[in-house]
Amino acid sequence: MTTSHLLAEAKVPRYTSYPTAPHFSKAVTPRDYTQWLAALPSDTTLSLYLHIPFCRELCNYCGCFTKASRRSEPVERYAAVLRREIELIAGLAGSRQVTRIHWGGGTPSVLDSDLLTVHAALDRHFALCSLTEHAIELDPRVVDERLVERLVQIGINRASLGVQDVSPHVQQAIGRIQPPERVEAVVAALRAAGIGQLSFDFMYGLPRQTIDDVRANMEFARRLHPQRISLFGYAHVPWFRPHQRLIDASALPGAAERLEQAETARALLIEAGYQAIGIDHFALPDDELARAAREGWLRRNFQGYTTDDADALLGLGVSAIGQLPQGYVQNSPDQYLYSTAVTAGQPATARGLAFTDEDRLRARVIERLMCDLSVDLEAVAGGHAAALKAEFDNRIKSILGADGGEMLQVENSRIAVTDAGRPYLRLIASAFDTYLERENARHSVAV
Ligand code: SF4
Repeated sequence: MTTSHLLAEAKVPRYTSYPTAPHFSKAVTPRDYTQWLAALPSDTTLSLYLHIPFCRELCNYCGCFTKASRRSEPVERYAAVLRREIELIAGLAGSRQVTRIHWGGGTPSVLDSDLLTVHAALDRHFALCSLTEHAIELDPRVVDERLVERLVQIGINRASLGVQDVSPHVQQAIGRIQPPERVEAVVAALRAAGIGQLSFDFMYGLPRQTIDDVRANMEFARRLHPQRISLFGYAHVPWFRPHQRLIDASALPGAAERLEQAETARALLIEAGYQAIGIDHFALPDDELARAAREGWLRRNFQGYTTDDADALLGLGVSAIGQLPQGYVQNSPDQYLYSTAVTAGQPATARGLAFTDEDRLRARVIERLMCDLSVDLEAVAGGHAAALKAEFDNRIKSILGADGGEMLQVENSRIAVTDAGRPYLRLIASAFDTYLERENARHSVAV
């Protein structure tokens, strides 16, 4: 049972958005984005996401939108366009307060001294005085004293570090050599500089990774004690990410081993005092993320689980996705088209999706399920609860089959996922996804 459900689970979205990105279309244009920004009430709070699509070299397993660049010129050119985009979008979004900034990638620190110039542009053009969280993704292999100084200078107060696996044979197999002592030194340097809010990213399902490796990883986490931990399963999709062809597919653990790795890591983290959050996050009980999960105000966005409660997320940089009350917008993933649009004074919007009322309703239901592992349809969907419940009852049987009973606890309009169902949470949430339903229907017609 578990293997077939896991295979099905692997094919459903992670629901960091609903509707999900594959359903975005060109129907949303730069003009729409401009109008949507202008229509935001003046007390709208903003969260900014900056995408830096460069790394010094590519790790074999990487699923991010990035490319390798050892030269500084392309990065400097990119930073110049990004500064221009900041000015442009801030001009359209007015003086609305920014509460969060997140630098992601890629490896944002490749910006080098342009970290300061891009930050100066943010500071000049956006209202940052209500900023509460300023986060960055870091590659421990390239963190040095000068970078830490710059992070302090721009006011970073949260950093997430890609650890993935501490065992040399796994690091060899994934093309990312990163001695654990290096990570320890970076953690010490960040803490000494006052950047104490740390997250570690780990992966399971990696080539040549064993249960003992997973145990070593969790022991490493227990010892370094970051506030938050993410644990992602490696997705081998070489047809989509060609550099993953460098990974020996025959060395990948099978579905049952992957499940055992995920469950072992989870049990060890809980034993170490972490609180499990949603499908893939853990946090120390006094961390805001853990509190939000306990108190029912956890959110899910493109960065995963978050406490970000800003009214609008603005994506800056090539391929960056934004979320406004009116819908999703995504910048062009083509660097030439992105730069050309921004240089001409236009938003680089390439596609998006304007929400319908039904999208909003289903998004709320799916978000609660993904965050709380339960949803009270009556509370979330009001008058639509009965129809949604009937639809769920109808679909969930074909999704979970005869074993579905042990994965769910259903009482009136409340659907709760049990411990047995937790590994299949995305699959259960997909029962509310009409886009996927339509797609599946299309595929079966095509077959
Ligand atoms: S450093 Fe991160 S973003 Fe860059 S290639 Fe490696 S995994 Fe991908």
